Amino acid sequence: MAVLHNQVLLPANYGELFSFWTRFPDAVLFAGGTSFLRYSGALAPAGDRGSGFPKNILSLEKIDELHRITRTERYLEFGAMVKLNEIIALGKIVPSALSRTLKDLASWPVRNLATIGGAICQKFRVVSDVAAPMAALDARYELRTANQSRWISALRYSSVSESLENRELLTRIRIPLELWNYTVCRKFKSCTTDDEYGGVLIFLAKNQKEILSDLRLVFAGETLFRDKNSESFLAGRALPLERKDTQHYGALWETYLAGLGKPGPMLRSKLVNSIISILLGLSD
Ligand SMILES: Cc1cc2nc3c(=O)[nH]c(=O)nc-3n(C[C@H](O)[C@H](O)[C@H](O)COP(=O)(O)OP(=O)(O)OC[C@H]3O[C@@H](n4cnc5c(N)ncnc54)[C@H](O)[C@@H]3O)c2cc1C
Repeated sequence: MAVLHNQVLLPANYGELFSFWTRFPDAVLFAGGTSFLRYSGALAPAGDRGSGFPKNILSLEKIDELHRITRTERYLEFGAMVKLNEIIALGKIVPSALSRTLKDLASWPVRNLATIGGAICQKFRVVSDVAAPMAALDARYELRTANQSRWISALRYSSVSESLENRELLTRIRIPLELWNYTVCRKFKSCTTDDEYGGVLIFLAKNQKEILSDLRLVFAGETLFRDKNSESFLAGRALPLERKDTQHYGALWETYLAGLGKPGPMLRSKLVNSIISILLGLSD
C-alpha cells in the first residue's frame, strides 16, 4: 500500500499517538508550530518557502494531559503543551529565573503559540534559552515512548538529537520550588560568528543568616555550562563576600570555559565580566 502524505494527525491520548507514529514513522511532532514558521511564513528564507516542511504532522493539541499545570508544596509541573504566556500569567508562583527568561524570549504573539515542550525541544538553536533556568532550578523532564517513561535532569538533557530516543516525546516538566533570595538573568546576543548562539546566564543564590548557603550559575549558549567546582568554592562563605573571592570565582569560570574551548573568546570574556559583576553585587 502506498504511504499517505500530507496528513495532520490529532491523537487524543498516548495510545493513539504511538499507534499513529508507528503507522507514519516520518510524522513530526507539532506543538505550537512556531519553529515551522521558518518553512511557511514570512520567516521563510527567500525561495525556500514550503521546502523542508514536514509531510506528516503529529499534533499534540488534543492530548489533555499535556495541557495540565500542577502545583504542590514542593514543585510546579507543566505538561509539555502549556504555552509560554500561560506560564508567565501564573505570576509569582513561577520561579523568577523562568518567568524572566520567558519574557525575554521572542515576542508576545510567538509566546502565545509556543509551548514549553516545544521551547525545550526546538531545533532553532542547539540549546534553548529556557534550558538555562531549567538547569539552574534543577528541573526534570519526563520523556515517554510507547513502552516506557523515564525522568532526566534538565542539566543532562542537552539537545533533542542527543537526548530523545527514536519516537520519544517530552511529556512533563517538573520544577522544584525553592526560595532563592537572589536571581539574576542576563541574555547575551551573539558577538561574532564564533559565538553563533549568544545565550542566557542565570545566577541563583540563597542567603541563610548571612551565609551564602547555596548558589547555581548556568549559561545556556551553544551548549549548557554549569561548573559545580566553582559553586563549591563559594558555598558556605559569609555575606557580604570578600572581593578577592569574587575575582577568584570569575577566574575559576574563565579556566572552566577556556578548558571547554567554548564559547568564543569575545563572548567568554563578556560572560566572565558579567559573572564578576553579579558577584560584586553580593560583596561589600
Ligand atoms: C520570531 C522567533 C523568535 C525566537 N526567539 C527565540 C529566542 O530568543 N530564544 C530561544 O530560545 N528561542 C527562540 N525562538 C524559538 C522558539 O522558542 C520556538 O520556536 C518555540 O519555543 C517552539 O515551541 P512550539 O510550541 O511552537 O514548538 P513547535 O514549533 O511545534 O516544535 C518545535 C520542535 O520541537 C518538537 N517538539 C514539540 N513538542 C515536543 C514534545 N513535547 N516532545 C518532543 N518534541 C517536541 C517539534 O517536532 C519541533 O521539532 C524563536 C522563534 C521565533 C519564531
